[in-house]
Amino acid sequence: MTGPQRTEYAVAVVGAGVVGLYTAYHLAQAGVGPVLVLDRGFLSSGASGRNGGGVRQQWETRATVRLARESVAAYRRFGRDFGYNIWFRQGGYVFLAENEVALGRLRIVHQTVRSEGLGSRILDEAGVTRLVPGLAAGAAVGGTYLRTDGTLYPFPAIWGLYEAVRARGVEVALGVEAVGVEQEAGRVVGLVTRSGSVRVPKVVNAAGGWSGDLSRSVGLEVPNRATRHEILATEPIKPFLDPMVVRPSDGLYFSQTMRGEIVGGLTVPHEPGTAQGMGSSAAFLPRMAAALTRLIPRLGGLGVLRAWSGFYDDTPDGFPVIGEDPRLTGFYHANGFGGHGFMLAPASSRRVAQSVMGEKTDLDPGLFGVGRFFTPGEAPRAERLQLG
Ligand SMILES: Cc1cc2nc3c(=O)[nH]c(=O)nc-3n(C[C@H](O)[C@H](O)[C@H](O)COP(=O)(O)OP(=O)(O)OC[C@H]3O[C@@H](n4cnc5c(N)ncnc54)[C@H](O)[C@@H]3O)c2cc1C
Repeated sequence: MTGPQRTEYAVAVVGAGVVGLYTAYHLAQAGVGPVLVLDRGFLSSGASGRNGGGVRQQWETRATVRLARESVAAYRRFGRDFGYNIWFRQGGYVFLAENEVALGRLRIVHQTVRSEGLGSRILDEAGVTRLVPGLAAGAAVGGTYLRTDGTLYPFPAIWGLYEAVRARGVEVALGVEAVGVEQEAGRVVGLVTRSGSVRVPKVVNAAGGWSGDLSRSVGLEVPNRATRHEILATEPIKPFLDPMVVRPSDGLYFSQTMRGEIVGGLTVPHEPGTAQGMGSSAAFLPRMAAALTRLIPRLGGLGVLRAWSGFYDDTPDGFPVIGEDPRLTGFYHANGFGGHGFMLAPASSRRVAQSVMGEKTDLDPGLFGVGRFFTPGEAPRAERLQLG
């Protein structure tokens, strides 16, 4: 742990997760000047090292479909761009509908996704069973499938980004906590860390589940809320499952890794906030086991190797928060990604970097800008296809 090496930077990014590192990468590529990324933990200590690696483009709103589609393209060329194999495997995502009402909702998603040029398919029960071998009879009346969705290993993605930004001159200070922002006349002029202050006119809040704390610590009220989500990995078994399988009604998701483990989670409500830490609860394991074995009975008896948890950074409408805060010049949001920041990071971070560089992005501020939370008269819109 060493503090920042310079006294002055062009941009400081708080958080060395996938969003912070990708943002730093785009900034460095554009040659904005000295960039500092700081993280109070170690690399991958946040949600970026604790997630399910799912990357999907099936979303309710066009704006999210577009960000996800661009991100899939970025992950496809990750090996070439960053020299790390992230094992991005496009085995598809199957959304399960347990009844006709749920299938009706998926049909609407399917239409949106198809209208964006992606080959989503509606499946009947037989179609779902072909893609999810061993599915219990009657467990689903049908679903949707998009073959180009997939899964990746988060760790090599983080390592590749870390090395790429450092090779481009970005300073990554690990074990260094940001505790405040210095302001003058409504502008950012510096960042205060536990290892000293630096002069910097632009600060990016990519602090994941802690982003709300950081914003509030500089006097900016935001509705971001950290929620703990649990996940497990089983012992490996012979490969039988290509797609990620998800069920919106209870947030169940699981895939089989290339090592053969089943990795997945489902929604178990916890007290919001980060105070409770990142442990595993007694409720999660039996609920997850019951949901999984009810769906695929032959998974009964499978040993669980590990269970862990991490924080989603949730917003009330399910859209992330991207761009400069109109209340404080030089303070940028790159947060609020809920349970889907890995799959949206490449495209979202490019917009964050554009915004830091003063360029106009193609994002609708009514969907992604922080102003949507305090602008009266905005018609509420939401991206509800959340999982986990
Ligand atoms: C169980 C689980 C499963 C998930 N599954 C998926 C999935 O399948 N697909 C998907 O796309 N997404 C998934 N996600 C969500 C995804 O992991 C996150 O959205 C994404 O990793 C967020 O990245 P980030 O860079 O914004 O935040 P993080 O990776 O959390 O990084 C934020 C960093 O900020 C640092 N930090 C915080 N405050 C400070 C401070 N004051 N000073 C310095 N550093 C600070 C933290 O130490 C942390 O390292 C899942 C999340 C969880 C918890």
